[in-house]
Amino acid sequence: MKAVAVLPGQPGSAHLTDIPEPTVTDIPDGRGVLVRILRVGLDGTDKEINAAEYGAAPEGFEYLVLGHESLGVIEQIGDGVVEFSPGDHVVCRVRRAEGSSIYDAIDTPDVTTDDEYFEHGISRVHGFLTEYYVEEPHHLIKIPQALRHVAVLLEPLSIAEKGIVEAYEVQGRLKVWRPRRAAVLGAGTLGLLATMVLRNRGLQVTTYGLNPPPYLNSELVEELGARYVSTQQTSLLDDVAAHGPHDLVFEATGYSPIVFDAMCHTVAKNGVLILASVTGGMRRSEVPSDAINLDFVLGNKAMFGTVNAGRQHFEEGVRDMAVAEAQYPGWLSRLLTHPVEGLEQYAQALANLSEHDVIKTFVNISE
Ligand code: BGC
Ligand code: ZN
Repeated sequence: MKAVAVLPGQPGSAHLTDIPEPTVTDIPDGRGVLVRILRVGLDGTDKEINAAEYGAAPEGFEYLVLGHESLGVIEQIGDGVVEFSPGDHVVCRVRRAEGSSIYDAIDTPDVTTDDEYFEHGISRVHGFLTEYYVEEPHHLIKIPQALRHVAVLLEPLSIAEKGIVEAYEVQGRLKVWRPRRAAVLGAGTLGLLATMVLRNRGLQVTTYGLNPPPYLNSELVEELGARYVSTQQTSLLDDVAAHGPHDLVFEATGYSPIVFDAMCHTVAKNGVLILASVTGGMRRSEVPSDAINLDFVLGNKAMFGTVNAGRQHFEEGVRDMAVAEAQYPGWLSRLLTHPVEGLEQYAQALANLSEHDVIKTFVNISE
């Protein structure tokens, strides 16, 4: 079957190749689920992998099949599968519990303490830019029929869900925490999805992006009843000085210096700052360290980092998609800006990642 692979370590190595087709019996005890892949979304991680800045091939392979944001339909199940039926639509979790930490042992590899991690299409496990995969049921998330058209967004949404769910868990330290105001830094795919989750939870949200409004992303923010601020027009600190600090701040810009602005006066007393950007570079910045430290100490503030997502975050994502479709019909579909037809067009999909107006580019692989 066809697949799009890279040679990790070789920049610009994405190519179309042929790999063996999996069968349902590849998984023992009749627990195999054979999935035909319908759609795969791409993001900055795929771009970095193709630039040889990130990514690793599975052991024994020179190539890595790309793609971690999947949607597929079940074609066949083994005798021992009771969780799913053929025809069900599913999204596959990205990280696999193949490490040796206690977190891998309890199937929460998103918080593994191992240095090596196993992620489909990213690190040591082949991805989904191909035609079929076979999996065990516990890796798969069932998609309700009415959400199929937007379910390729579930994996990026799961990243936002984990950060926000964990923020509430962290804030359990306060016994009573009733956040009202939230800031999302970044108005790309992740920032837009985080804005949606926070609006679903009833928070007043300000989303900070670079570009001056109006453009699609600022319109999408405003359609959720959130406020859009261009940091080219008003800096984060000026806006906070004018409108007040935020109980919850979700950082998703990919630009690490803004983290220190966010630490300084942006987080309200007893507030929480969630760091979710993967910044692979070597950027350094000078920061007002006394002021930041004082602000965090005297304000009882918390900050934590979050990567990947566990099963429950995907499930929470399904519920938030359903709420969004009910509350803001058609909103999620508007994020699907750059479709590409067929695996052969992979180069177009990768190129789309650099378009200024892209929110989500994805490859339609089969009907
Ligand atoms: C993926 C995550 C992954 C992270 C780090 C992101 O693009 O969506 O699932 O954990 O990259 O590799
Ligand atoms: Zn990703």
